[in-house]
Amino acid sequence: MMIVMKPTATDEELQAVLDRVEAAGARAHLSRGEEVTVVGAIGDREHIARLELEGFPGVDRIVPILKPYKLASTQFKHGVRSVFEIAGRKVGGQHFTMIAGPCTVESRAQTLETARTVRDAGATLFRGGAYKPRTSPYAFQGLGQEGLRLLQEAKDETGLPIVTELLDLRDLDQVLEVADVIQIGARSMNNYTLLAEVGRSGRPALLKRGPASTLEELLMAAEYILKEGNEAVMLCERGIRTFETAYRYTLDLTAVPVLKQLSHLPVIVDPSHAAGRRDLVMPLSLAAAAVGADGIIVEVHPRPEEAICDGPQALVADEFADYVERVQAAAALAGKALSPV
Ligand code: PEP
Ligand code: MN
Repeated sequence: MMIVMKPTATDEELQAVLDRVEAAGARAHLSRGEEVTVVGAIGDREHIARLELEGFPGVDRIVPILKPYKLASTQFKHGVRSVFEIAGRKVGGQHFTMIAGPCTVESRAQTLETARTVRDAGATLFRGGAYKPRTSPYAFQGLGQEGLRLLQEAKDETGLPIVTELLDLRDLDQVLEVADVIQIGARSMNNYTLLAEVGRSGRPALLKRGPASTLEELLMAAEYILKEGNEAVMLCERGIRTFETAYRYTLDLTAVPVLKQLSHLPVIVDPSHAAGRRDLVMPLSLAAAAVGADGIIVEVHPRPEEAICDGPQALVADEFADYVERVQAAAALAGKALSPV
């Protein structure tokens, strides 16, 4: 439930409410807005029922949160959208985040070349996998630690913050040394111990929707991260599995406005993995931007025909500046400007 404080509530009254929530065995999540201060009491029903906070000094009203996800719900932020900063770049609200880079870090030359190109074209963040979730155990699994080192070099040279996937909790400390955003891959969306640990790390997270997961399941996965006090979660639609076989996955663009109705969290779209084909990446990106996505994560490679992984869907680096320009125009239709502005 949410405890909405009166505008006149004192710090002591607020503290008394927080103490009461904790004493009842529930968790208190404080959200101080400009106009209203709200305490989210999260816990099992029995604990919450024991609170009896109606009429408490400084309390205006008690509002139950009816959805199974609480901290991720629109209601929890009383309608205000989340905006947070990643190394000085704003995500969410009016800001459009362009995350670009190769599927996987392959070599120093490929990584640095791509990073320079996407930086020059105005990308907000640089993506690249050092640990890759591959369908085949015989396929290239990523450069691992060496890949992280190359990402650090790309960050040092271009100043772009890094988005990279954490696949295995044993690599958390090393990934934390480089990653400004931890990517949780579609296959890991249901790895609840991984989600909780990323939550505890406090590092911003990009949470990809599992190809067979509902929006409610995605929001429950986000809740695992938020519950640990980490508020910087981006939701990512990257295509779901349907009966259609003409393209790799079906990009669920309806998820964008619907997620934004259900949750205050920013929504990012990945057209690359949904399409699996370069020719579809531009139209899907334009549509995603126009439908109100808070950003895009897209794969770019200087020579896609040589890419070890996901070459057929990678945008050609030389064409990336033109791509950004067109996507930016579509984002403007939805009232957003490329971050940083
Ligand atoms: C990726 O972003 O490189 C990736 C593997 O994506 P997904 O987890 O969505 O398949
Ligand atoms: Mn990929």
